[in-house]
Amino acid sequence: MHYLITGGAGFIGSHLTDLLLSRGHQATILDDLSTGSWENISQHEQNPHFTPVIDSILNETVMDRLVSVCDVVVHLAAAVGVQLIVNDPFHTIRTNVIGTDAVLKTACRYRKKVMIASTSEIYGKNSKIPFREDDDTTSGPTTKQRWSYACSKAMDEFAAFACARSHQLPVVIARFFNTVGPRQTGRYGMVIPTLMKQAIKGEDLTVFGDGSQTRCFNNVSVVVDAVAQLLDCDEAIGQVFNVGSDEQVSINELAQRIISITGSNSKIVHIPYSEAYQEGFEDMMVRVPALDKIRSTINYNLNKVLDDTLKEVMEDLQARS
Ligand code: NAD
Repeated sequence: MHYLITGGAGFIGSHLTDLLLSRGHQATILDDLSTGSWENISQHEQNPHFTPVIDSILNETVMDRLVSVCDVVVHLAAAVGVQLIVNDPFHTIRTNVIGTDAVLKTACRYRKKVMIASTSEIYGKNSKIPFREDDDTTSGPTTKQRWSYACSKAMDEFAAFACARSHQLPVVIARFFNTVGPRQTGRYGMVIPTLMKQAIKGEDLTVFGDGSQTRCFNNVSVVVDAVAQLLDCDEAIGQVFNVGSDEQVSINELAQRIISITGSNSKIVHIPYSEAYQEGFEDMMVRVPALDKIRSTINYNLNKVLDDTLKEVMEDLQARS
């Protein structure tokens, strides 16, 4: 099978590329290296089944050429990371809405199966835990830029379902919850690489808010295996799936575990959201996925607990420093 992976030089995309190539598939990646990096994929440079294309999903000529020759499109390219979104919301909207429009339009032209990467942010301020795929989405006001990411991904989902209905396009939507593992960068506000780097350097660990907010972190290897299975599964077509872990941890506890795993002398300091992002920043206290739908569709194997993932991230950061 020939996969086109947009955002293939990014964190999740590069792990998916590793997996698909290791299974003997052909992988073409399209990435503008804005948040991804060549180092994530350079190990495949000599692989005849691997084709890197460094360009934007907004380049319609390139997109047309690449989609016309692949079998499946995995659309991961996006503006990602709370810091990036708060700093440059217009870029987020353009990349996520116009970029996905370009992907879907071309996939419709050649009738290629597409997976769209969506996000747990879609559930917004919904307080009904766990989040089910058909729950309401509850975003904040348009004056608060952080919601532009959730709304842009919601538009991507609407557009994908519209293409499925009007063009019989085979689409699958994966709503990723916090995904972590080696190669994730802390540059755009991702919590685990940020705290891990601070612990390794012996700096204070900066926890935003009071740290009682909880998250469920999922290992990237579980995520890319699920993506591959969902793409192979006819039952998944036209459906949306939560792809996450249901192991909850507060950010305070996460910071403690990072200190203990690294053996660091660092202290935890709390930074108000208004200082970390902007005045009036809204965060969700809890985010837990319901996993019954994905479990009843594929062999969804949460075989890595958080401590395993934290060790992998630590070893990766140490090897690269
Ligand atoms: P990432 O930033 O590492 O990957 C995104 C990739 O897209 C990068 O390599 C970047 O260079 C590329 N890109 C951005 N704009 C582009 C453009 N215009 N043209 C071509 N390439 C472009 O982030 P990630 O964590 O790997 O995220 C992958 C997908 O998963 C995204 O769609 C994201 O919204 C979604 N997601 C991720 C998480 C998570 O926890 N990592 C959670 C929810 C959803």
